[in-house]
Amino acid sequence: MAIIVQKFGGTSLANAEMIRAAAGRTIEAVKKGYQVVVVASARGKQTDQLVADALELNPDPSPREMDQLLHTGEIQTVALYAMALDQMGYDAISLTGYQIRMVTDNNHSKARIKSIDADRMYKYINQGKIVLIAGFQGINDEEHVTTLGRGGSDTTAVAIAAVLDADVCEIYTDVDGIHTADPRIFEDAAKIDQISYDEMLELASLGAGVMHGRSIEFGKNYNVKIHVRSSSEDKEGTIITHEVPQMEDIVVSGATIQKDLAKVSIIGVDNKPGNAARIFSALANTQVVISDIIQTEISDDKANLSFTTSASDLKNAEKAIDSMKKDLNFDNIFVRDDIVEISVVGVGMRTHYGVADKMFSALAKEEINIDSITTSEICISCIVDEDQGQKALIAVCRAFDLDKPAEKRITKG
Ligand code: ADP
Ligand code: ASP
Ligand code: MG
Repeated sequence: MAIIVQKFGGTSLANAEMIRAAAGRTIEAVKKGYQVVVVASARGKQTDQLVADALELNPDPSPREMDQLLHTGEIQTVALYAMALDQMGYDAISLTGYQIRMVTDNNHSKARIKSIDADRMYKYINQGKIVLIAGFQGINDEEHVTTLGRGGSDTTAVAIAAVLDADVCEIYTDVDGIHTADPRIFEDAAKIDQISYDEMLELASLGAGVMHGRSIEFGKNYNVKIHVRSSSEDKEGTIITHEVPQMEDIVVSGATIQKDLAKVSIIGVDNKPGNAARIFSALANTQVVISDIIQTEISDDKANLSFTTSASDLKNAEKAIDSMKKDLNFDNIFVRDDIVEISVVGVGMRTHYGVADKMFSALAKEEINIDSITTSEICISCIVDEDQGQKALIAVCRAFDLDKPAEKRITKG
């Protein structure tokens, strides 16, 4: 029998009524003849509440205990979901990450999945049960609990769809699909019917919080069809798939705002071989994830080096650099965490010109100053002041007609 994976986000499971509605979706799929595996997140804002509870007791909690605390949110949801299904006359069993041997690396709070024991799910699937898996969590080789990073239940769902060779991984959420930009900020953002893994990966890694970035990597590597759709309305959402040819003519397919961001600039570093290597190996040793790096020579013997990282990694990044101050002989270090990054993404940029011009002009017209610019083959990003972020995103969306559906944005030449 065909398997389908359904993932419900916390915003779609905030109370008993919503859990019952989600269970209704699961039952619909069972009635269509599917064997259903459900992945669920913590209810409502529960993960945020658990983070606040932790910080009230300890401003710098150990990453191990933080994961031990946070993973409990999703365990509650799946147990409640199983109870709802039972009450509705369906046989279900809830399982934790530990119980399906979802083994990850040791990176607490941003762990990567290494393996999943599919037999632990097949055992119950073959008994005709609906299997409910707590999202966002795993265990490391020593059986300590790890979590996959905020929003990580998407990755749990796609990884499970991959190991079970499911027909589709449905992501039920509080929007009706992927839009050209966050509709909470740019409310006219058009819905996208189909998007390539590569573009979605870029959008997710640049701040489109609707999907956890690593879930898209899994989808691409294991060919999982992902369908992002509304949990409250019964209509087609967005299919994330391999590139379709017509997409090349859509220059910009989406725009994002990355909020959880910090920029570190090391001013006046000795400009000699090995310094950049030393800095980034110290950062890697403290498991700080770096995004953009810019190095500029400012004299024969000095250089400035900047990089961006997530605001949550900033403390560790500063500690790592401070510990090398004597070795590196730099003048000072300058940190900003009052910034956001606005990006436009589109595979069509590979073959079309004028994208940078249009983006910078849109920002200039709104008198928004650009702190720094980075580009890749399919993306242009500008860092701007946090308090101008929303205005900047809206200006860029308007400039690229992101309120119009894709077929009206096709550009030749
Ligand atoms: P869930 O609880 O279902 O995991 P999330 O809050 O993680 O939900 O993701 C859904 C939210 O993502 C939407 O409410 C929306 O504000 C936001 N979002 C950001 N970028 C986009 C985008 N490009 N398209 C759709 N939603 C987006
Ligand atoms: N509950 C976790 C979070 O709030 C994981 C998830 O929702 O996917 O980030
Ligand atoms: Mg989410």
